[in-house]
Amino acid sequence: MARAFNFCAGPAALPEEVLFQAQEEIANWKGVGCSVMEMSHRSKEFVSIAEEATQDFRDLLAISDDYEVLFLQGGASSQFSMVPLNLLGDKTSADYVNTGQWSKKAIAEAKRYCDVNVVASSEEQNFSTVPDFGQWNLSKDAAYLHYTPNETIGGVEFDYIPEVDVPLVADYSSSILSEPLDVNKFGLIYAGAQKNIGPAGLTIVVVRKDLLGKAKSFAPAMFDYQVHAKAGSMNNTPPTYAWYLSGLVFKWLKRQGGLKAVAEINQRKAEKLYGYIDASDFYSNPVEPRYRSRMNVPFVLANSDLDAKFLQKADEARLLNLAGHRSVGGMRASIYNAVPERAVDALIEFMKSFEKEYA
Ligand code: PMP
Repeated sequence: MARAFNFCAGPAALPEEVLFQAQEEIANWKGVGCSVMEMSHRSKEFVSIAEEATQDFRDLLAISDDYEVLFLQGGASSQFSMVPLNLLGDKTSADYVNTGQWSKKAIAEAKRYCDVNVVASSEEQNFSTVPDFGQWNLSKDAAYLHYTPNETIGGVEFDYIPEVDVPLVADYSSSILSEPLDVNKFGLIYAGAQKNIGPAGLTIVVVRKDLLGKAKSFAPAMFDYQVHAKAGSMNNTPPTYAWYLSGLVFKWLKRQGGLKAVAEINQRKAEKLYGYIDASDFYSNPVEPRYRSRMNVPFVLANSDLDAKFLQKADEARLLNLAGHRSVGGMRASIYNAVPERAVDALIEFMKSFEKEYA
């Protein structure tokens, strides 16, 4: 059977071209006689793969030499701990913005290590918006400010970068590489790979060099950015295959024309889908339009009794993984970089015909 359109929030769709290239190279990478999975991470072949992928990632985001780029394991969830363990220094508190389920998880973890000042929250609005920056209650003695630019579950995305006096830390798991980004505004950016980068098992951290070397003395070595930076992300065995495959994705992004070109496509995809949802009385999206995510589009049916039918019919139409997160229900279409515009067109056509049949 042909490949389907995959709207999974993560692990998510990968570019088809990349999968076919990986297929071609899987058993015998460039004639060396083994697959990338079977190579020593210290071999000159793998080191060249890793270096090229790292450089391509740096090129895409125009990352300066002031920053280290680390290829780690442990998922974005480990960063919820690594950030406070490394960035608190002598300070005892940090500022956090609460815009959804992932912010809440980051906050809960940080509370193990410091006083967390929640400077703003949209919880009372059921996470359907971003708190107005003018109202944030920033503290004077925070070690850093942490926020989640794109909330994967709620489908809420910041349309601005907060300007604060302390290092800005962002969980970019679900929107990294979706548009150009001024990395210089951040102290640290992290992202789990399995949405817009590559396969699960890899987490990328971009950290300003002057923030390194301040990890708590009790922090495990594997939770110390400095240890990974000094070792070129090879303090232990890195996730070699995920690193390689992400490198293929970076090359694919460059072939698309880089992040500016990709952002235009993403904008078009999102506008089409939200446009259709807004025009329909049968589907709706609860997020304030200004803050709607271009990557994760949650929507509900007017009659939730039809949810199971919608998902069954969507599966039959080869539109996969449209169920909302288990904590919120409803539907969610994740339309990351690797989900082509024709997948969004097919989804809209399906939604139209479902509405016609069941409204
Ligand atoms: N942050 C965000 C914004 C996410 O979407 C996710 C995963 N869905 C996580 C953190 C957790 O990532 P991981 O599963 O890699 O730990």
